[in-house]
Amino acid sequence: MVTNNSRQYEVAVAGGSTAGLSAALTLGRTMRKTIVLDAGAPRNRFASHAHNFFTRDNTPPQELLRIAREQLQPYDTVRLEQGFVTTARKTDDGFLLTTDDGREFSAKKLVLATGLQDDLADIPGLKELWGNRVIHCPYCHGFEVRRRPVCVIANGEAAEHFGITLSNWHSDITFLTNGDSQISPEATAKFKEKGFQIKTAPVKDLSAQGEGVKITLGDGEVLETGAVYYRPQKLVYGNSLAEQLGCEISPEGVVTVTPLFETTVPGVFAAGDLTHPGLHQLYMAAMGGHLAGTNANRQLTQEAW
Ligand SMILES: Cc1cc2nc3c(=O)[nH]c(=O)nc-3n(C[C@H](O)[C@H](O)[C@H](O)COP(=O)(O)OP(=O)(O)OC[C@H]3O[C@@H](n4cnc5c(N)ncnc54)[C@H](O)[C@@H]3O)c2cc1C
Repeated sequence: MVTNNSRQYEVAVAGGSTAGLSAALTLGRTMRKTIVLDAGAPRNRFASHAHNFFTRDNTPPQELLRIAREQLQPYDTVRLEQGFVTTARKTDDGFLLTTDDGREFSAKKLVLATGLQDDLADIPGLKELWGNRVIHCPYCHGFEVRRRPVCVIANGEAAEHFGITLSNWHSDITFLTNGDSQISPEATAKFKEKGFQIKTAPVKDLSAQGEGVKITLGDGEVLETGAVYYRPQKLVYGNSLAEQLGCEISPEGVVTVTPLFETTVPGVFAAGDLTHPGLHQLYMAAMGGHLAGTNANRQLTQEAW
């Protein structure tokens, strides 16, 4: 039951970063009474700058969100609140969200934009350098370290994928497999042909050195490199609210959505990193949020017609 304490909205958005604020902009422009609840921990918060985002290349992530929030101010039907949504459930006429401090929000439609978090390996120094000297994506940060010698902490298929992709940015690449190499014999031969090295000793620790990174390996070797590429083996998708609502979750762990970003539960939309296993980019999050907002509005309009 929805209690008297709950505040009533047409649309509630859980997560107020790129996907959530993009949805909110569309919902503001369609004059929908909207609440955005955000816990304030966007995935890219560790990076000093965000790149490859049309008209805002090389902008600090928090500045992008500040601009987004500022540009929502003219839309007086949109309300932004800090809060971590712990529960989401269906009611007779919509949905009810509850935050960890006991606030309740009811809405006819929901947009889930709770992103994902990176589960970093337990290597001393990795967390401290993550997002700047330890980077995960050349499209986001490769240009800034272009043509520098780099190390890649990866093994098997992930290392093979990095090898092909990074060859456009770097020619001096050392792969740190952190244990026996599982890189295929074909890829190993290709790496050799390209002059790439493979080192199998455990990665003991990382630290900042000049503009680059110093890496100590378990066999005592010390490497000095321009940057480190690393992609967490485990991504923790923020899809617990989707699970509570009964939305289908794909085998990869992401929320299944239609091309218009509706989940398998009618009236519940999802956008951003939690809706796809790859393509984790600001553009994709903004696009998903926009389409989710558009379609939440379209459903409300059709229902009132
Ligand atoms: C280090 C790093 C650097 C990156 N750099 C770039 C780059 O340069 N260019 C680029 O295009 N992409 C970059 N990315 C990818 C980009 O950060 C993501 O694609 C993008 O942040 C996804 O947006 P989102 O809105 O889906 O999720 P997020 O930005 O992660 O936002 C999710 C929001 O939801 C909130 N939230 C989570 N759960 C709840 C809840 N239960 N209740 C309320 N709020 C909740 C979180 O606190 C957060 O504020 C980078 C990623 C990383 C890890």
